[in-house]
Amino acid sequence: MQYDEIMVRYGELSTKGRNKRHFIDRLGTNVRDALHKFPKVKVHPNPDRLHVILNGENSTKVMSHLKKVFGIQTFSPVLKVAKDYEAVCDAAKKMLADQITEPATFKVETKRSDHHFEMDTFQMNRELGGFILDHFGDQLTVDVHHPEITVWVDIRLDGIYLSSKVIKGAGGLPVGTAGKGMMMLSGGIDSPVAAYLALKRGVSLEMVHFYSPPYTSEQALAKAKELTGKLAHYCGSINFIEVPFTEIQETVKEKVPEGYLMTIQRRLMLRLAVEIANRRKGLAVFNGESLGQVASQTMESMRTIEEVTNLPVLRPVLSYDKTEIIKIAEEIGTYDLSILPYEDCCTVFTPPSPKTKPRIDRAQKYEQVLDINGLMQRSLDGIKVTKIHAGDEFLNQNEDVFAELL
Ligand code: ATP
Ligand code: MG
Repeated sequence: MQYDEIMVRYGELSTKGRNKRHFIDRLGTNVRDALHKFPKVKVHPNPDRLHVILNGENSTKVMSHLKKVFGIQTFSPVLKVAKDYEAVCDAAKKMLADQITEPATFKVETKRSDHHFEMDTFQMNRELGGFILDHFGDQLTVDVHHPEITVWVDIRLDGIYLSSKVIKGAGGLPVGTAGKGMMMLSGGIDSPVAAYLALKRGVSLEMVHFYSPPYTSEQALAKAKELTGKLAHYCGSINFIEVPFTEIQETVKEKVPEGYLMTIQRRLMLRLAVEIANRRKGLAVFNGESLGQVASQTMESMRTIEEVTNLPVLRPVLSYDKTEIIKIAEEIGTYDLSILPYEDCCTVFTPPSPKTKPRIDRAQKYEQVLDINGLMQRSLDGIKVTKIHAGDEFLNQNEDVFAELL
């Protein structure tokens, strides 16, 4: 059914003391961004609640966008009626008819800031409760202590507001309130989930993606971009930074013993990500590593790779099992894309048996034969940045899968 307004509750935000204003302003901006396709919508971020005034825009569609905005604990669609008891009854009847699917308990709870209204809160609770029982008596019973449905009636100066649904929001903190991070995004399952979790804690992300043409295809690049388009639903838009990695991989493969290929490649990837973070004011590098998942993700390996920087390297899925990661990937809609069979630059150059306990001194020694600065400089010179918006598509999946199979 069509509502007039959506009332948004902040949750965790309200505990943020001095920063509260900053959080609420940012949430207001993010909600406006998420709803930019609904030009008539007006967003009012007040200290206690945020109000989305629909002005006739489709409430179901607006709510489906709101569900992806971090920093929202719950929200309720609201009907606004004239200050007239009959109108309140009509609206309550419509709302509950739309909502009730099985027997439930309920109560009416009234708040009155307009004290000139003809009924007080006690009268409204009793009269409207009786009216609801008359109409829905076969499904609803009253429970004033722990009702499953609360019909809220808010009598204000400009009208009466009614709501009866509480919808769970995305939780977390508004994107942009926790600083900026560089997300190392492959085309795999884990890094998009790590990105989602970082966004959920308020980090604004830029994606760093390494690609190695001609060893990796245009489709592999398009897949990483399309994953970014999926993730942008949670924050509006994301900068996608593609970093050419072919020369580095070829050189490392030629000059480094096989057991350390992966370690040295990763050290170079991390150095590049850190340099990009420094240039673009990123405070940390994020990746999709999960402890023990593969050879490069042991603690010894993480330590040897991380030795190249003192910028924090944060791993949102570190302690997650693969099945838990897959579950989130399915929920956020990245899984089906992630399992498309396009070769990643790491898959192509991964040796059959990488060291699971690489040593820092060995890694440093093998790097001595490499012109690290020159390799990095040439890679950085080839960087391309694209702004990707929510839902942008880059793959024509049917054609591409077919082409890969040929
Ligand atoms: P994912 O599913 O995220 O690819 P994975 O389990 O396949 O992870 P690896 O391929 O070893 O693990 O990569 C570990 C992490 O390194 C990734 O989660 C990602 O953060 C980063 N990474 C790997 N390949 C790339 C790439 N081509 N571009 C950017 N980051 C990458
Ligand atoms: Mg991978």
